[in-house]
Amino acid sequence: MLQWLNLLRCHYNFCLRDRIDSYEQVRQPTLGNYCDLRTKAECCPLTCSVSKNSQLGEPYKGDKKRNAYEMQSSELPKLKQARPWYKTVHSTVLQQNLRKLDTAFKNFFNGKGYPKFKTKQRFKSFNYPPNQVKLKGNKIYLPSIGWMRFYQSRLIPDGFSLRSVTVRKKADGWYISIQIEDKIIPKSQPKDLDKIESAIGCDLGIKKLLALSNGEQIKNPQFEKQLERTKAIRQRRSSRKKRRSKNQKKAAQRLARIEQKIVNQRTDYQWKLAHYLARLADVIVLEDLNIQGMIKRCKPKQDEDGKYIKNGQSAKRALNRLIRDCSWGDLKLKIQSVAEKFGCIYLEVNPKYTSQQCSNCSHIDSANRDKEKFVCTNCNFIADADNQASINIGRKGLEILGINLSLATGSPPESYV
Ligand SMILES: [Zn+2]
Repeated sequence: MLQWLNLLRCHYNFCLRDRIDSYEQVRQPTLGNYCDLRTKAECCPLTCSVSKNSQLGEPYKGDKKRNAYEMQSSELPKLKQARPWYKTVHSTVLQQNLRKLDTAFKNFFNGKGYPKFKTKQRFKSFNYPPNQVKLKGNKIYLPSIGWMRFYQSRLIPDGFSLRSVTVRKKADGWYISIQIEDKIIPKSQPKDLDKIESAIGCDLGIKKLLALSNGEQIKNPQFEKQLERTKAIRQRRSSRKKRRSKNQKKAAQRLARIEQKIVNQRTDYQWKLAHYLARLADVIVLEDLNIQGMIKRCKPKQDEDGKYIKNGQSAKRALNRLIRDCSWGDLKLKIQSVAEKFGCIYLEVNPKYTSQQCSNCSHIDSANRDKEKFVCTNCNFIADADNQASINIGRKGLEILGINLSLATGSPPESYV
């Protein structure tokens, strides 16, 4: 499987280069007008060597033009001829690998990031398409690899058929995730707007991971901070070993395992939290934070002589680490997916002024907030700052939905009254 990963990664990067070339070529032709003799595309007598299409594969099947994925896929037989070691990889796995690349480009065309070349650290899984993998008791059959024992963490319910299967390498071993499907079960639909009974607003924070509009506060276990010391020790040990030695490999493994532990703990906590929220209310409103912007590096500062002076980055580093430990982005994705499953409505609203506005009289003043305590300068309303921000967030969400519903608000904690 390790060998496969290496081969697949090479193939992925090779095909990625091909697609980037053809994309850049179309976006901005580097050699003026050009033509392609194979595809009878436009022609200029001066330059005719650069292909507008990707270099791999046949662009036509009969009269029909192939899309980028099909073109690269048609190249696979030739690849196996030229490089016979690719024959060891199951053919559908190679195709799925190209699909992965195609998805990366589709995401890019939909406004996500530019596809990246994959390093060994970033390429850890391969897929089987549906109807390839077989299961029998505690054994699994992976085509071209064979039968092997595995730990089935959850039994597959009756009536479900196996869909695509992903084999993934993690720090403590290999994992298989199996997608299952039962066509009889209807897809969950979001609830009708007039049937909504309860709504909740959530304010994201660091110490309190979530402050809810019903007055509840969910603490952040800060898993990374808990294991910070162990992680630092293992990091140091790993960095002081001789490079590429066996001992360094072992130390790096130990480090990777603790990193995985942190991720596992956090993921588990977040799933449980997401389910808790989905049971609590029909509408979940969160704030739309620019997290990437929050952990951005401070701009370098220069004095009059052009010498660099302190810009506050070193102080911000600690905060950035705490923000990363919260992993709000992952939490939001999980809440969203659970909400969809339960038929709840998930919303993100602009958090502007939500922490400054009084939820009692809608007065906006930056002086309203005094650290964790909120005191309205207009009506002397006292509350916990985060909880009352979440009330504003919840109201904003309900406004967008256009339903008239009083938010489930709770009384402020006693210490503030
Ligand atoms: Zn007020």
